Amino acid sequence: MRSITTFDIQYAHRFYGFRGEAQYLHGHTGTLTIEVEDSVNAGVNMVFPCNEIKKTAWDVLKNFDHALVLREDDPLLPAILDVYEKQGIRDGAPTNTMKGPAFKTELAEAYPDCRLVVTKETMTVEGMIKMVYELLKDKLKIAKLTFTSGDNAASETYLPVGSFDRCPCCGIALGEDGICPKCGCRKK
Ligand SMILES: [Zn+2]
Ligand SMILES: [Zn+2]
Repeated sequence: MRSITTFDIQYAHRFYGFRGEAQYLHGHTGTLTIEVEDSVNAGVNMVFPCNEIKKTAWDVLKNFDHALVLREDDPLLPAILDVYEKQGIRDGAPTNTMKGPAFKTELAEAYPDCRLVVTKETMTVEGMIKMVYELLKDKLKIAKLTFTSGDNAASETYLPVGSFDRCPCCGIALGEDGICPKCGCRKK
């Protein structure tokens, strides 16, 4: 069965080199749906607690929220960094608190201090799904990702891989020691 969670991500981007209005900088509220598939954990009668799926995903993906997402070859990138530098906000600001740990994958690199994500490919809804899967595939047993933004939507299905021992009392993934990091229960 599947546990499904959905949340919004607000971001600005543009399609560099695209011949259409999306070549201009603009913003969206995008909606990501994550479907996690596994057996039903008999202890709690759920696949996985949805708030925990959201927490795991958000820890990483909050770097996309209220962020500017630009392709690595976009000339806006050095221009924006130059402005941030001159303004003294390139390496952080006291009010920029919603930061996840910086990440770097094949497809994306996050600079949380200035709320910027630099991507290898254009950040279309399809591009976002590829980036999200790469970031979360080792943390969640993903069966499907869907991302919608404005009139655009895309989804991809995956063979759910990995095995996560789940707590029989609260349903979250057990630590490597077989003990639940949340409630302290042991694997039965
Ligand atoms: Zn757009
Ligand atoms: Zn637990």
